[in-house]
Amino acid sequence: MIEKDYIAVIQCHIVMERCSGYFCEKAFHERSGLFSDYPADRPLRMIAMTCGACCGLAVHRKLLDLIRYSEKKEGIQRDRIMVHLATCITHDNYHGPVCPHLDYIETIIGEKIQLDFRRGTRISDLSEKRRENGIYQL
Ligand code: SF4
Ligand code: SF4
Repeated sequence: MIEKDYIAVIQCHIVMERCSGYFCEKAFHERSGLFSDYPADRPLRMIAMTCGACCGLAVHRKLLDLIRYSEKKEGIQRDRIMVHLATCITHDNYHGPVCPHLDYIETIIGEKIQLDFRRGTRISDLSEKRRENGIYQL
């Protein structure tokens, strides 16, 4: 189990022009997909935001804002935050291929801001099958 106080989900800005983020939130609520490693019996906050459009640089200022206020207002330290890059960024899927700026975004999060991060949020059974069958590449 992973012990964190805050999950920050980063979603593809382009995909979010048509997606409400429902399945990301549902996966978090149910602790399924990439959220299955978090205990459901203790408080865990979740906030979702988009990357701010290509090239994803906005994650830098958005996550710094989260770090600043979660520490100032609630005493939540940086190491208590985990970033999840939504599946629409990290996996080939219905909405499109993997984000071409994924490495850049991960450098910002992991090296510049020094937050822990993971790839993925909701995992769709149908998409997994399509990945296994080579219809989706990653
Ligand atoms: S992973 Fe799915 S539900 Fe989450 S933001 Fe992307 S398209 Fe929407
Ligand atoms: S940088 Fe990647 S995640 Fe962000 S809008 Fe562009 S393609 Fe989507």
